[in-house]
Amino acid sequence: MKFPATKSLYSLGLLCVLCASVVNGFALDREAFSFTNYDLNVQVEPEQHRLGVRGKVTLRNDSQSPQKVAVLQVSSSLDWRSVKAGDQAVQFVTQPYTSDIDHTGGLSEAIVTLPQPVAPNGTVELEIAYEGVIVLDATRLTRIGTPEEAAKSTDWDQISPGFTAVRGAGYVAWYPIATEVANLSEGNSLFEVLGRWRTRQSTSKMHLRIRVQGDNDERPQLLVVNQSSCQQIYEGIGRSSLSSADCTYQRLGLLEPLFVVGTYGTVDRPSVRVYNLETHAESAEVYAGAAEKVVPLITEWFGPPREKAKTADLADPNAAAYESGALLLTPLGGGNSTQAGLSAAHQLTHASFLSFRPWIEEGVAHFAQALYLVREKGRPSALEYMGLHRASLGEIEEKTTVPRSDDEVNRSLVNTTSEELYRSKAMYVWWMLRDMVGEAALKKAIAAYRPEDDKEPSYVEQLIAAQTQRDLAWFFDDWVYHDRGLPDFKVESAYARKTGTDSSMVTITVDNLGTAGAEVPVIVKFKGGEIMQRLEVRGKNKAVIRVETPAQPQEILVNDGSVPESKTTNNIFKIEPTDK
Ligand SMILES: [Zn+2]
Repeated sequence: MKFPATKSLYSLGLLCVLCASVVNGFALDREAFSFTNYDLNVQVEPEQHRLGVRGKVTLRNDSQSPQKVAVLQVSSSLDWRSVKAGDQAVQFVTQPYTSDIDHTGGLSEAIVTLPQPVAPNGTVELEIAYEGVIVLDATRLTRIGTPEEAAKSTDWDQISPGFTAVRGAGYVAWYPIATEVANLSEGNSLFEVLGRWRTRQSTSKMHLRIRVQGDNDERPQLLVVNQSSCQQIYEGIGRSSLSSADCTYQRLGLLEPLFVVGTYGTVDRPSVRVYNLETHAESAEVYAGAAEKVVPLITEWFGPPREKAKTADLADPNAAAYESGALLLTPLGGGNSTQAGLSAAHQLTHASFLSFRPWIEEGVAHFAQALYLVREKGRPSALEYMGLHRASLGEIEEKTTVPRSDDEVNRSLVNTTSEELYRSKAMYVWWMLRDMVGEAALKKAIAAYRPEDDKEPSYVEQLIAAQTQRDLAWFFDDWVYHDRGLPDFKVESAYARKTGTDSSMVTITVDNLGTAGAEVPVIVKFKGGEIMQRLEVRGKNKAVIRVETPAQPQEILVNDGSVPESKTTNNIFKIEPTDK
């Protein structure tokens, strides 16, 4: 049983109150208010699976009209206890609200009648209290047909005596949110709702005091949070313990607060701290060792670490990894050092480099993984890794049904809320920039990046322009400011002419059938070797290149995999042997 039977009765009773008083006559604008500030005291009792929260929230009316009603939402497994405004209890009713933004597939809403209407841009402070349990619950996934095991390995959040991990908005609404319904069975609905939430919360703050009560602990329960500047205290009192953290989050939209509690051992190195479950001590050493080896590469590209990267072990060996800033949650069972280095490269990049734009923040972190593979195993290995990302890009290319003109702006890297775009596509964009301007220039541009100066979408373009003679306006236009889809290269023709006893000159025409331009490698293969040159081919355009080869050319290949392409079956051209 997930919920005590009394809970559903309680909710039903409130539902009827609601029918009579609130819903009558007007529609709720659930996204009218943003939470500009949270000040929360959170009590976690793992033995009881329990979470209790007391605190204050400041709401700002972001709508165009005065608002008399505010909606506060927490997970459906939590119950509202009180809402006050300036020491006065205010009238509120609670109701369940079906939405896939929470792992339970539902929210518990408090619909609050404010003491007076709040004008547009006006704020109101509310004192709140709610509590309940957070248990493993993958309802939102199982009800759309995800197999139980897979669903539980995705939605692994829970408070339990053995292991506690609770992520924020998008997983568990353990702090109040205010969102319209998100439906996993309707395309991108969840990502859109979450995207709007993150945009609205982009400058919101949270002061979080969290206390975890442990009973009869033989080993200390360590509390891990995704914020580096917390004051953390651990006290053992008799047979019980208390772990607490006092944290301030400056930009919630970027870093949704989360907490993890486990009987962890730790491996502490200069740049990384690994929290491992008892059976994973060896893997933790492997991870920490691999991470330390990646630090010089990351420092070279993204500067020295601003904070220590943290990795916390997940109890379920199949649990999907999750990252939040410089904290990575992942099952540590593997112990493969290349895999460890690969994920450490991503994590350490977040510890070194900060941007408030997802395509930059996540794009460079995935790009760093490709850089790591180039250094460890060479370019083909990096291209193969990027190829895994390309598959998801190809899928969303096909899924696109909205007319391109709207999409061009909404789905551009600077605006998108789609992870495939701001992760996979952005990674390719950074990789292509490296290929086009060279490592030295791109490193200088990245070193000059200051998140506080990044006010215009064109900021990165300007930083790169300062380091190169090349005009890349067309590239940013096609890949960053608009979503022009992916290129589709085709070798239209290739003519070889003998220039000596063995040498030849081959003239190659490459057609780009797609609408996004790119500079693409053209590889000429001949007996005993190959030559690679780069050719800029704008969208819906052709370009010609001449390549001299020391032997008769046999085959032309356009694109080595470094440019994401919608169709790769037309990339090879065989040259018929000639005797002239
Ligand atoms: Zn990341």
